[in-house]
Amino acid sequence: MTERIAVIGAGQMGNGIAHVFAHAGFEVTMIDVADAALEKGRATIVKNLERQIKKALMEEKDKVEILGRLKTSTSMEDVKGADLVIEAATENRDLKFRIFQDIDRLADVGAVLATNTSSISITEIAAKTKRAESVIGMHFMNPVPVMQLVEIIRGLATSDATTARVVTWCQLLDKTPVEVNDFPGFVANRILMPMINEAVFCVMDGVGTPEAIDTVMKLGMNHPMGPLALADLIGLDTCLAILEVLHDGLGDSKYRPCPLLRKYVAAGWLGRKSGRGFYTY
Ligand code: NAD
Repeated sequence: MTERIAVIGAGQMGNGIAHVFAHAGFEVTMIDVADAALEKGRATIVKNLERQIKKALMEEKDKVEILGRLKTSTSMEDVKGADLVIEAATENRDLKFRIFQDIDRLADVGAVLATNTSSISITEIAAKTKRAESVIGMHFMNPVPVMQLVEIIRGLATSDATTARVVTWCQLLDKTPVEVNDFPGFVANRILMPMINEAVFCVMDGVGTPEAIDTVMKLGMNHPMGPLALADLIGLDTCLAILEVLHDGLGDSKYRPCPLLRKYVAAGWLGRKSGRGFYTY
């Protein structure tokens, strides 16, 4: 029987997650608060599928089949019937807590409830539900159709059965799951965000231009992208939210977000998604 997935949030991560599951043969429902967000998410999937056709990685008929497996909805009621619900809404604790209370009320008994959060405690999110054993972190990387890793984060109460199901789903997507424990920022962002933050301090202190800083890291450290270009790709609002979680959760001043990052976010300079960040798009 075809397995069904519901993805909450049609932003850059939500539409990427919906894309890879539909591509792997799952029936997918993508849920967002506004029709405009759903239309934009679906249009991104179409554009990415067309790119794969141009590269001869798939045919037109595959695109039609994949899109045939993808539904969109503005109603949370549509998590009903899903074997796996993946939340990929904006990185905000209270929002995620509310969404998990709704999912807990609506999702089928036995469904796995996953979050794509970059940093918020899986244990705390799980505690908002009456089925903490079924709650787990499935942290996909951006862009989802391209990146190999899924960081799997077990909350304190996550069961072995839930973890095993999620590992199997990742393998069906041809991705590599890596299991880690619940701690602020997990592994990926605990290590990545201090580097991005330090690059922003270098801009603020006038140590170098964004281009110079990124070139040093690309050519000097063999990073495929500089930290500031990567911050623009992730979204500066998301970077700030993750740094706040690291700072609050670990209580060490080394995680304090750079004031220039706060200023950019306050100005609405969020990176690629708003057309301007450390670079203009
Ligand atoms: P985004 O801003 O592109 O998209 C967020 C989406 O959530 C928007 O479409 C918004 O309308 C929707 N949303 C907000 N409230 C909602 C609700 N109540 N119900 C349904 N949808 C709602 O953000 P993003 O970059 O896709 O990030 C989403 C999540 O993925 C965050 O938790 C983020 O930390 C995580 N994440 C992001 C990256 C990255 O590189 N951007 C990487 C890994 C994980």
